[in-house]
Formats: sequence, structure tokens, C-alpha cells
Amino acid sequence: MKIGKIHTATLLLSMMSAITVHSQNPVKYKVTFPDVGNYKVLKCEFHTHTIFSDGKVWPTERIMEAYSDDLDAISLTEHLEFRAHISELASPDHNHSFELAEPVARKLDILNIKGCEITRMVPPGHLNAIFVSDCNKILIPSGNRNPGDSANYQLAVKEAVSQGGFVFFNHPYYRLSHDHIKLPESIEKLMDAGFINGIELINENRYIPRSFDWALKKNLAMIASGDAHSSMPLFLREFRLKYRPVTLVLAEKRTGESILDALQNRRTLIWWKDHIMGRKEVVEPFVRACVNIKKYEFENNRLSITFENLSAATFDVELICDNNVYVSQAISLQPNTEIMMTADVLNSQLKSVPVSFRINNVWIADQKPLTIQYAFERK
Ligand SMILES: [Zn+2]
Ligand SMILES: [Zn+2]
Repeated sequence: MKIGKIHTATLLLSMMSAITVHSQNPVKYKVTFPDVGNYKVLKCEFHTHTIFSDGKVWPTERIMEAYSDDLDAISLTEHLEFRAHISELASPDHNHSFELAEPVARKLDILNIKGCEITRMVPPGHLNAIFVSDCNKILIPSGNRNPGDSANYQLAVKEAVSQGGFVFFNHPYYRLSHDHIKLPESIEKLMDAGFINGIELINENRYIPRSFDWALKKNLAMIASGDAHSSMPLFLREFRLKYRPVTLVLAEKRTGESILDALQNRRTLIWWKDHIMGRKEVVEPFVRACVNIKKYEFENNRLSITFENLSAATFDVELICDNNVYVSQAISLQPNTEIMMTADVLNSQLKSVPVSFRINNVWIADQKPLTIQYAFERK
């Protein structure tokens, strides 16, 4: 009887969701990136909450927000062990939030990734499991059923992985002491055994520098999450953000399978405020795809370069003064704009002039900007 009740409720809510799409005229604000080689750049949010844990919004609203922000994929990762509004809900099902969102996600062409947040005391803390098939099975009851109990969390992680899921370490600053510079032992063991394969560098509006070090050292996928609990407009206003933090995923296709493949092969970037972060082998081709040299010309020892930004991100480009170029300068290349920079070249006889640029807001390690070089040929 209880099951029948849930099904009826699901059906009714699905119908309501369908109506919501029509009545609200959803609007998308386009956020575009060029392809990087054979890969598409997908904007993904792998960590959010709704009223089915301790969030404040209904699951379909998260999908509407994702559509408005031009996201490709989102995961409603409800806390398994902490459901603030459970007394108000008819369904105890941990997959229910996903199921409510799914019809609207399909309609708006948002990839809805089934996921949940394994929520234990620190250490080990919180872990997100995405691309799972059944969140209910990941709720492994701890010995005394204390929601914060850290016992048996390994079983929960292993269950998620056995479902084909991808597990990452959330907000690695949370309740760790300020001077904590080591990974919690329990987390490190699961990383070394291949069960945890990603880590958040950004959570809400916080950047966690040591996460960058750990991601590089342990070869983890780098993740940026909003972890929004309130509605997206309130979230953006609270943190004075123009756009939410997202993980940029370099995927072969715009499908869940391709996103998972990219996570497993570490083809992810952080886009947060005006920063891009990631490992050099992913960041450099990304920047070269976004920042195009539209044209250049020499006039004796002066080189004029027209940069074209084909993306939604900003790039702070600094011309590096070296043996070939004797005046340094910096430009801020805004989204979808072009700008001309003039470089003073030392050797007017040089046939091919290598010029180096530091992209100050693109980091390949904590505080370490990417440097790229272009060769300009005299015709
Ligand atoms: Zn959490
Ligand atoms: Zn969370």
C-alpha cells in the first residue's frame, strides 16, 4: 500500500513538473566554449541539494536553474544520512529527488546524473557518489544508526563504486583544523585503493589550495561545486557571483557516459569567478582553443597581435619580457571579444619570433599561472 501511495504521488508531481515548464517560460543565458580538439567542453554541477535533504528548493527548480545557466549536466546529491525535511515528505526513497527532476531534465535537455552525498562525521567527512544506480543501497546503516556515525563508510563507498559510480571528496576544509595539511587517513586509504577518484577544489565560494596539491599528487579529478542549498539567485547574491562555480568537462560527446569517461581520465577543469584551474595537459589545449590569434603583422620591430576570445571565460594575458620582447604588458581578454596587443621585438632580423604569455588567472598548480608560447613568422 505504501508503495502504491508513492507511485501516485510521483505521477502527480511529475505532471505538476511538466506544467511548471510550460508556465514559467524558461530562459537560457548562453555560456559557450569552443571544442578542444575532439572534445566538447561541458558545464557540469556535480553537487547540489533540494528539500529531499537539507536544501530549500524543489528538484525540478534545480533543473530550471541549470537550464537558465546553460549547464549541460547536474546531479542532485542529497545527503543520505541527513534529511532535514523528512517529516514533511511522503517518500523515504533516496532516488525520489532524481526521479522528480528527470521528466523536466529530459524536456530541457539537461543531463540529470543520479547521485547522493555520503554524509559522515569528520573524518572521513562527506563524499559525493555520482553516476550511481540506486542511492538507497548506498545508505549503509552505521552500527548505532547515528546519522553522523563514520562507521561503515567504506561499505557505502564500495557500494557506490560497485554500481559503476564515481566518488569524490567534498569540501576538504570542513571541520578540519586550520593547520590541517594532510589528507584524513581514512580518505587517503580509499584514494590509494582506487575508490575515491576526485576532489573539490571549490565548494560554495571557497577555494581550497591544498586540494589542488592533493589532486595533482594523487591524480584525482578536479571538481568545482556550488553545493547550493538555497535557490541559485540567492546563492549568487550571497556570494556576489556572476556565475556559479562549475566543473568544465572535456567529453567526447554530450552524454553521461562521456562525462564519466572524462572524470575517470581526469579531463576536468575548474571555472570559478574569473579563475580557470587544472592540470597543465588539460588547461593548455583548452586555453589555446579559447584564445585564438586571429591575425598578426610585423612592422620592422613592432609586432601587432589580434587576440580573439572564443569563450565565456576571461583571460588575463601578460606578455612576458624576455630576450625577444623588451616591453611587458598585460591585457584582460573579456568573453567573446577581440583585442590588439603590440609587442616590441628586439631582433628585427629574426624570421620566427617566439613570444611567451603568462595567463595570470589560469593556474596549473596553486598560485602558478600557465605560460604559453606562440611563434610568429615574418612573411
Ligand atoms: Zn557536505
Ligand atoms: Zn552537500
